[in-house]
Amino acid sequence: MKKIVLHACCAPCASYPIKLLLNDGYKPVVFFYNPNIFPYKEYEIRKNELKNYCLKSEIDFFEGTYDIKEFYSLTNGYKQEPEKGKRCSICFNMRLLKTAQFAKKNNIDCFTTTLSVSPHKNSEQIFIQGRLAASNSGVEFLEYNFKKNDGYKISRMIAKENNMYAQKYCGCMYSMR
Ligand code: SF4
Repeated sequence: MKKIVLHACCAPCASYPIKLLLNDGYKPVVFFYNPNIFPYKEYEIRKNELKNYCLKSEIDFFEGTYDIKEFYSLTNGYKQEPEKGKRCSICFNMRLLKTAQFAKKNNIDCFTTTLSVSPHKNSEQIFIQGRLAASNSGVEFLEYNFKKNDGYKISRMIAKENNMYAQKYCGCMYSMR
């Protein structure tokens, strides 16, 4: 099976993409790089839930660094932006660029992200940042629109079956409002 790096933000959102990628003949390698998540306790909860699900599903799991200072320095000036605004594009870019670099470093030639599963996110906005990250790193970004074909509904069903923790906000402190 061909390996693909799957950037994942949490276990519920990763559940359906893992299933679909396996069905499509890929072997996903999960990369958790989400320094946007605040507070750190919430970050740990989301990370551990995903790590346990990967262990159970026999999927490799890797964690990036918690560069929260980097996130604040990049998004400073965009605190008041609504979701789907400029701050979110910066946030996607930061996470996808690091994912592309991780793929390159590990000789995996493509990557994608679970972010598109959410009905609260604009897939094209994510894809623009995925393409940019890919062109800056020399790996391919696969434009999986995971919310298609009831992807979000299926991911919530899998999350429920597995008693997964489900967060109530996107991730950063601004999205808690
Ligand atoms: S709302 Fe979500 S996508 Fe947007 S900046 Fe905050 S954590 Fe990132």
